[in-house]
Amino acid sequence: MGKAWLGLGANIGRPRAQMLEALRRLDAHPDIHITRKSGIIETDPWGKTDQDPFLNMAIEVETALGPIDLLDACLMIEEAMGRKRTEKWGPRLIDIDVVAFGQMKLITDRLTVPHPHAHERSFVLDPLEEIAPSVAKWIKAQAVKG
Ligand code: AMP
Repeated sequence: MGKAWLGLGANIGRPRAQMLEALRRLDAHPDIHITRKSGIIETDPWGKTDQDPFLNMAIEVETALGPIDLLDACLMIEEAMGRKRTEKWGPRLIDIDVVAFGQMKLITDRLTVPHPHAHERSFVLDPLEEIAPSVAKWIKAQAVKG
């Protein structure tokens, strides 16, 4: 079993209900077990600023999946919950990012971990800091090293 940290965000529909539904679906996956949850924070939109504020949170999971299979599980839950990919950084029903997968460093077409923008986004780092300060610190250190 490996540990991974996921970042969740939502800003349309019923964001809090969607976050809770995503947690329920993640934990219902036979190979994903949620071990820690941060509080839910409200944050200003990033990138595209003329949209509603976001709710964000971080969770720690134990998983028997490899990193790409974990990403696929997250994408399937996003899709099953009705997320449409229209515009980059646009409004979203639910977004589930793989922020870190153990201390693995991976850059592929489909997945980059640690998440390439995690170190510059407080809406990712602040909730992560709450549940896994050493992981947040490690992500910031990776960014400095490049
Ligand atoms: P987005 O629409 O911003 O949620 O981006 C999702 C796409 O980013 C996915 O289809 C992934 O292939 C890609 N991606 C690359 N690295 C990551 C990551 N660490 N977590 C989630 N998605 C990633």
